[in-house]
Amino acid sequence: MKIAFIGLGNMGGGMAANLVKAGHDVRAFDLSAAALEYARENGCTTFTAAREAVEGVDAVVSMLPNGKIVDAVYTADLIGVAPKSAILLDCSTIDVATAKKVAEAASSADYEMVDAPVSGGIAAANAGTLTFMVGGSDEGFARAEPILAKMGKAVIHAGASGAGQAAKICNNMLLGIHMIGTCEAFAMAQKLGLDPQIFYDIASVSSGQCWSMTSYCPVPGAGPQSPADNDYKPGFAAALMLKDLTLAMEAAGTAGVDAEMGKRAKELYQAWVDAGNGGVDFSGIIKTL
Ligand code: NAD
Repeated sequence: MKIAFIGLGNMGGGMAANLVKAGHDVRAFDLSAAALEYARENGCTTFTAAREAVEGVDAVVSMLPNGKIVDAVYTADLIGVAPKSAILLDCSTIDVATAKKVAEAASSADYEMVDAPVSGGIAAANAGTLTFMVGGSDEGFARAEPILAKMGKAVIHAGASGAGQAAKICNNMLLGIHMIGTCEAFAMAQKLGLDPQIFYDIASVSSGQCWSMTSYCPVPGAGPQSPADNDYKPGFAAALMLKDLTLAMEAAGTAGVDAEMGKRAKELYQAWVDAGNGGVDFSGIIKTL
């Protein structure tokens, strides 16, 4: 297939490279010269405008920073420019309302579009082991699935348009909450005189077990290798966790949900990022506890 890829940063760079490895003809566009250079090295053909990259393609994949940019790029350069036969896949993490709005604009112009945000960080993007949660019609999912499968280990149909983004922010709200909970438990265990490794050995096979503990332990030396063992270099930066918690709280407001724990997690990450820690791995919040 001929696939346009828009936004080849930390995540998109590796994802596009995996589409090339799978034998696709990948046409890349990014505002950053460094991102385009990396894409070229990985076998993509590069273009100086999104409008040129989407000429004659079968699919468009985007991996952009936020909803405002996704809206602007789709409205100005993709919808009405790419062939109508092309399936549009936005893999960025953005707010549910914008995801629905852009998909509606695409649908009104006779395109099939899905929101397909991911779980998994830069390592998973490079390794092709992301999890995709997809919002869109059955037909859109059927067309998107074989493309997404080349970049991930799991591709799940979450529901109608916007449902992928809804699943993503609910998942990441839970992640923010259980990371802070894990940090509190380890900090308290230590204050109570427990050795962190012994507490890990106990809690990891007890009812307190969770992903933040057994896959991403915030304490150096305990559990598998994690950013804690690398001076909290990301990984998943605190600024990105704050972005996702902000999206989650916006969605909670729209849906009339009192997500008290999510709200508190957002406040704690907001304070920590405001203190200059946006570039630190999100598990580093343990240093404040
Ligand atoms: P990034 O900033 O590294 O990459 C974004 C790329 O988009 C950049 O290269 C930038 O130049 C490009 N860009 C911005 N505006 C553009 C435009 N108008 N036209 C073309 N290109 C443009 O960000 P990232 O870490 O790759 O994240 C991308 C998305 O993936 C975000 O929505 C993020 O929330 C989500 N995400 C990130 C991670 C992670 O661990 N980094 C994990 C899951 C999801």
